[in-house]
Amino acid sequence: MTPSERGELSRFSDDAEQWLADAVPERWRSQRNSLSPAEVTEVRREWDKQLYRGGYAGLSLPREYGGQGMGLAEEVAFHELAARAHAPEGFGRIGKILTAPTLIAHGTPDQQARFLPGILSGEDVWCQGFSEPGAGSDLASVSTTARRDGNGYRVTGQKIWTSFADVADRSLFLARTDPDARRYRNLSMLLLDMKQPGVTVRPIKQISGTSHFAEVFFEDVWVGEEDRLGGEGEGWKVAMTVLQNERGAIEGITRYVEMRGDMDLLLRCCAAGTERAAVAEQFDVRLELVRWQVSKAVELVDDPVAFARATSVLKVTWSELWQEMTEFAIVGSCPEHQAHWRHQYLETRASSIYSGSSEIQRNIMAERVLGLPK
Ligand SMILES: Cc1cc2nc3c(=O)[nH]c(=O)nc-3n(C[C@H](O)[C@H](O)[C@H](O)COP(=O)(O)OP(=O)(O)OC[C@H]3O[C@@H](n4cnc5c(N)ncnc54)[C@H](O)[C@@H]3O)c2cc1C
Repeated sequence: MTPSERGELSRFSDDAEQWLADAVPERWRSQRNSLSPAEVTEVRREWDKQLYRGGYAGLSLPREYGGQGMGLAEEVAFHELAARAHAPEGFGRIGKILTAPTLIAHGTPDQQARFLPGILSGEDVWCQGFSEPGAGSDLASVSTTARRDGNGYRVTGQKIWTSFADVADRSLFLARTDPDARRYRNLSMLLLDMKQPGVTVRPIKQISGTSHFAEVFFEDVWVGEEDRLGGEGEGWKVAMTVLQNERGAIEGITRYVEMRGDMDLLLRCCAAGTERAAVAEQFDVRLELVRWQVSKAVELVDDPVAFARATSVLKVTWSELWQEMTEFAIVGSCPEHQAHWRHQYLETRASSIYSGSSEIQRNIMAERVLGLPK
């Protein structure tokens, strides 16, 4: 980054920090833990709209598509500041980070005109309908079918672990359109309307008591041909664009800030000079390594292969560190914080599974970083 780019980034960050200080809703700041689930949903939906009004939606999307035309560095800086300001997490993540860049890469002008404005303004919430009971790491095994019917498709099957399914208007949806075609040529990407008859969403309660995702059933659900993203049978190619856009650096920085809060608490909980304090200090050093890895990933964003390698290492580093930290904290922590650590311990179990499990990330590192044979 040149000195002038650094100056611009610093000015952007100052403005964003000021905006966040004014924009984060007071009731979220002061009464967050006493809000009902319906009120939390309301705050999160409104937050997406506030981001748009403030000019902070689609920071790294090109201007001609309604974005702000900035880079990943600004996007990461904003997410870090928002997490530090305890801003609500909106519902726009799948729409803005995954769907919008994929629409720009593969969509028709009509699809871009119909869907991008709603994604950016926060009016439309999107979910990602990829995983199924028999297809997770092995995504190409998706078996939900989209059967040809006139000028569209009838979709039947089941998705699982779908984040935001209970509030989503649309799904970026991978389905099998040709039961006879060979693997990787038998899938299509659909932009499926979640608010139609035949779609049944059943939230799944997680081990921590929260409910981040749902199982979703589809019975003869209609998708018009104009809502197929990319060609028929080209769903795998489109899915690869989606996965490339998972943008591990944004997730990495958000988690870093959350983990920093846990880390500061852990350091306060361990009496100075004890063996526990020494272990906590080691965690602290490893956490700063996460921050450094985020910066390295941002520098590599224009080199897709190096960026994918960097974000795989980053994902494994933060997710496993967080699990180790909470595992350490839950045993022997002061009674005052027991409930917090119990919750965090359970909540972090999922972190080494979503956005590609640790085993899958290690496969990527073995093959693409170390060059080991498959
Ligand atoms: C909180 C959360 C949110 C999620 N949100 C979404 C969402 O919005 N949309 C969506 O589509 N999905 C979502 N998922 C699903 C997620 O993408 C999958 O759980 C993940 O891809 C793993 O798939 P699976 O659960 O089917 O496990 P499997 O793929 O069955 O894996 C089981 C175990 O085997 C290991 N394994 C599998 N293949 C290999 C291999 N080749 N080599 C070594 N080990 C292997 C895995 O690492 C894992 O430990 C979410 C998951 C979580 C936990």
